[in-house]
Amino acid sequence: MPAEQHSITSGASRGRYINTGNGPVLQPIDINHPDYAALIDPDSAFWSLILKQEMGTVFDQKSSFLKQYLRKRNQFLEEMKALRFNALPQAVYFNPTERCNLNCSYCYLPEEQRSSGSHMSKRQLLKALDHLKTYFSRTLPKGLNPLIVFHGAEPMLVRDAMFEGIDAFKDYFRFGIQTNGTLLDDEAIEFIKTRNVGLGLSLDGHIGTVADRTRKTWSGDSVFKKVVDVLEKMAGYDNYNVICTATAENMSALPRVVDFLHALEVPVAMLNPVRCTRQGARDIKPLDHELSRYYLRALDRTQELFQKTNRKLVIANFANILIAIIAPAARVLMCDISPCGGGRCFFAVAANGDMFPCSEFLGVPEFKGGNLFRNKIDDVLTSDAFCKVTTRKVEDIEPCSHCAIRHFCGSPCPAEAYEMNGGMDKIGAFCELYEEQVRYAMRLIADEKTDAYLWDGWDQNTKKSLDLTTLSL
Ligand code: SF4
Ligand code: SF4
Repeated sequence: MPAEQHSITSGASRGRYINTGNGPVLQPIDINHPDYAALIDPDSAFWSLILKQEMGTVFDQKSSFLKQYLRKRNQFLEEMKALRFNALPQAVYFNPTERCNLNCSYCYLPEEQRSSGSHMSKRQLLKALDHLKTYFSRTLPKGLNPLIVFHGAEPMLVRDAMFEGIDAFKDYFRFGIQTNGTLLDDEAIEFIKTRNVGLGLSLDGHIGTVADRTRKTWSGDSVFKKVVDVLEKMAGYDNYNVICTATAENMSALPRVVDFLHALEVPVAMLNPVRCTRQGARDIKPLDHELSRYYLRALDRTQELFQKTNRKLVIANFANILIAIIAPAARVLMCDISPCGGGRCFFAVAANGDMFPCSEFLGVPEFKGGNLFRNKIDDVLTSDAFCKVTTRKVEDIEPCSHCAIRHFCGSPCPAEAYEMNGGMDKIGAFCELYEEQVRYAMRLIADEKTDAYLWDGWDQNTKKSLDLTTLSL
């Protein structure tokens, strides 16, 4: 029914004005920039930078800005809906063992599992990969290779089974290994490089005394030197990254961590705020605003180093937010979108085949959706346990429901919301960090400085929908 007719019969508005009736909601936000503020439609994630002194003109019903935007709004809303609700799983976080040779302070797995849990046998691991191949061959388009990330506890404890699985299925799956790095010898490094396996290494500091505060063996010994030895051997390999978990113990060192990783020629790092799902992590949770200060300084440092050396260290968790703003469909990580990627874009498999929406839920029995060896994957994906995560929407959470940047943040993480704050309709642990990251990203866009923060070729498959990036009326 045309809008005009609809308003005659129902009494509803035709949506001609901003912020009233059925008109679009456009929320202005300060981005701490001398000249620009941002205007955001929180529902469609459309935004534009507006010269501050011209903000009022935008709201003129006859402004070209409003006309152009209204013509495109429905398309933006549809694109956002597709991104949020139509994805198919394309990746699996595969945990082939419950055990770990380290005892990190913030680990999201129960201590009992990590110290004496079970391993998946080689036969079971191959069988599991075969099940997954059968499932993905049916659900994904031909030519699209799903990703299997061997994940922790410490997957290198079952190295032989894992490497055999990689060799047996390397023509179908892409593979990654997330490891603490302590069990990687020269032969393992060679294996990883020759199969182009993605490698994620964990390191929480630029010197042993910082890194050892959170990451150490069960007897309290340092593993810093061992991990740095591995990093030195990875120089020149472009399919690896370093995860530095940011806590109260290391946040002030984040800019120096950037210098250190850049000097080691690490191409991509993540400075992830600690996931506060367990008490050990909550004990070292940094204050949101204090972490933000050091985190933004670390981002500044990546740009300074790029200018000096012409070599980038991309901070992937920030780059993902920047991309979520510039080209929402091109984002790669799936924590900063609502519903998040857990159980929707990927799922996690435990050492006994139990399936969870995300590794963050391993060890929380109410989020077990079924078992890979006993249940159909389709049934698990639609189980009540998975739906708790896949239907958690930012619109149902306070204060996110009226937050202008809700589709750049996504209100992560549901595991934190549940474990730390008492329910899926609660926020996670780092709201202010998202507020600051989005403002930082908007300033970079205003000053045309985004290139230093994004990996080369990130936009190869994107197209521009509407060029209203900055607006001077
Ligand atoms: S937000 Fe949390 S549950 Fe969702 S994908 Fe990220 S880590 Fe997993
Ligand atoms: S967590 Fe904070 S920044 Fe993120 S959507 Fe909610 S209110 Fe907004």
